[in-house]
Amino acid sequence: MEERKMRPRPRRSRRKVCKFCVEKATGITGIDYKDIKKLSSFISETGKIMPRRMSGVCAKHQRDLAVAIKRARVMALLPFAGERF
Ligand SMILES: [Zn+2]
Repeated sequence: MEERKMRPRPRRSRRKVCKFCVEKATGITGIDYKDIKKLSSFISETGKIMPRRMSGVCAKHQRDLAVAIKRARVMALLPFAGERF
């Protein structure tokens, strides 16, 4: 069995602000599927899109994010979920 270190997660804010909504305020609009760095932070180890509860992304941007990730997968920029498992 694999042993994973349980890292204590600091719970600072109850209400998470959607990262993309914050970006929108700074002038960045939309989610770029080529921005793998950003996208990968919303993808789990198994290549799945993080659930909204974990990522703190709002419904609208979760949708946009899913589209961007799917597009990135098609472009072979990101692996498909569960491809190697
Ligand atoms: Zn948002």
